[in-house]
Amino acid sequence: TRRKLVAGNWKMNGDRAALAELVAIAAAGAGAVDVAIAVPATLIAPAVALVPGFAIGGEDVHPAETGAHTGCLSAALLKEAGASFCIVGHSERRADCYETDAEVKAKAEALHRHAMRAILCVGETLAQRDAGQAEAVVTGQIAASLPEGAAADWLSIAYEPVWAIGTGRTPTVADVAAMHGAIRAKLRALIGAEADAMRILYGGSVTAENAAALLHAGDVDGALVGGASLTAAKFVPIVAAAG
Ligand code: 13P
Repeated sequence: TRRKLVAGNWKMNGDRAALAELVAIAAAGAGAVDVAIAVPATLIAPAVALVPGFAIGGEDVHPAETGAHTGCLSAALLKEAGASFCIVGHSERRADCYETDAEVKAKAEALHRHAMRAILCVGETLAQRDAGQAEAVVTGQIAASLPEGAAADWLSIAYEPVWAIGTGRTPTVADVAAMHGAIRAKLRALIGAEADAMRILYGGSVTAENAAALLHAGDVDGALVGGASLTAAKFVPIVAAAG
């Protein structure tokens, strides 16, 4: 059975004062559910200092080891700052920074070279869903961005429908289960039995109210939480719902 993972993504939110929330969040992570929080890169080192041993991650990584890439951060730099994992391929980066599936794949591979874990995000837009293409888009992203050496001990997939992010709208539990099943089937086709150990998280407007239903849907192995990860008051109940 797959242990559930509830991960937070602070995006471009929070500051040093807000890190105080991590103390209660880290305490909630000591049970039957894995808990992790991705923070803005400048907050990684102070977060790790505050909650040593708790999984703090980055939100993006450059695929190269070093070089002329102004403003970018390598896996080694993130790791040196204390990050144990990183999100790759978030739809906001695919949109804001024109990231392609091939780049997302290379980013995940860079993390693996440095023995870091990765959460690889996929998801369709509303126009794609309305056109009946959601499953084809998502399984296509999986096929094109799954890194070499993909294995459950370092890689998780996050299904985040773009139209559900920050909108208060979510797919139905049945739609989430169907998409996670389709992702699992695609993973099986690509990596065989390893697919059955790989965690597939749901992300997009997860709250304390809807978490229990979403987190116990078929093939859902956790959540990637944006807005509701910013405070312990909102996030800890989501962790509890996963258990
Ligand atoms: P919200 O939970 O704020 O909808 O964000 C989801 C997300 O994008 C997590 O990566």
